[in-house]
Amino acid sequence: VSGEHPGEVRAARVAEQLRERQLDLLLVSAPANVRYLTGFTGTSGAALIAAEGDHTFLTDFRYETQSAEQVPGTFKRKIVSAELLEALVGLLANGEGSRGGGPDRSLGFDDAHISVKQYERLRQALGADRALVGCAGLVEALREVKEEEEVARIRAAAELADAALLEVIEEGIVGRTERDVALELELRMRRLGASSPSFPSIVAAGAHGALPHAEPRDVAIPAGVLVTIDWGAVLDGYCSDCTRTYATGELAGSARAVYELVLSAQLAALEALRAGPSGREVDAVARAVIERSGQGEHFGHGLGHGVGIEIHESPRLSRTAPERPLVPGNIVTIEPGVYLPGALGVRIEDLALVTADGHETLSGLPKELTIVE
Ligand code: ZN
Ligand code: ZN
Repeated sequence: VSGEHPGEVRAARVAEQLRERQLDLLLVSAPANVRYLTGFTGTSGAALIAAEGDHTFLTDFRYETQSAEQVPGTFKRKIVSAELLEALVGLLANGEGSRGGGPDRSLGFDDAHISVKQYERLRQALGADRALVGCAGLVEALREVKEEEEVARIRAAAELADAALLEVIEEGIVGRTERDVALELELRMRRLGASSPSFPSIVAAGAHGALPHAEPRDVAIPAGVLVTIDWGAVLDGYCSDCTRTYATGELAGSARAVYELVLSAQLAALEALRAGPSGREVDAVARAVIERSGQGEHFGHGLGHGVGIEIHESPRLSRTAPERPLVPGNIVTIEPGVYLPGALGVRIEDLALVTADGHETLSGLPKELTIVE
């Protein structure tokens, strides 16, 4: 593995944060964080990042070859036969990462990921003189700011997903079941090179679209309704996420007005999206548009979320998101929706890169109401 491995730089940044927090070690156990820091894509791996000195990577025998190829040489690789946590406990009990018995020996861990049982085991292994400190969000905070290479991968995933959807809607969707359209979309994403969809695709017609997390049904899509399609692709380890709502013919009642309302909220939020405001502030921009027209109670979820190695990452854009400014390199979704129970739903979602003076949209499909038959 060359010295160019992005994990080396990222691990060095974690080490710097450990020194600031006066911690000796950080146990990284969440798979997406392990992947970010080591490049390891298997399901069984953990990393011990050291404030000073060598980092350690642990996996089991099934991943000996794979980890040798993926994990950079700045990590001491340990292939263990026991369960990973037990192997770690053994290392820690042998003084791994301690600086010779000083009172400041300490281990940071991910208190949002480790179970109470695992915590108790670590606590027991470290003994009374070694602090165990919750560090949830430390690696996630680094992951919020995408490197150029990561932006390129997410952009490519979004372009692939767009291309797959265009292929599907060119064939028409009226008369096909929601499930059939969803499967077709996933098949086409894989044919175009995706390793998988980034989440189970949503295809929801008419009143079913009023459920924000609708599951595709074995029900034919009728003419003259709105259909919400929410989909994404994983390419080179990075996710995309997009939603479009189409009309399957002339619409009755308030459907078009609801669509135009959601679109104006989405455009207003994109207009406000740049480095500086918090996710809470950008959420409020979209929410104000929807509230002004009396539909506030029908926009029940947050405006958006970060996207990267995982489909839902920080930063969040919602009423309860931290009042922390968005920064250049954040990649977030902007996805307001209005859901009228028993009648219809509209959601329009773009994936956007935050820049110093604005944003760049990574998903490219048109948003004016389009009829797909
Ligand atoms: Zn989505
Ligand atoms: Zn989303």
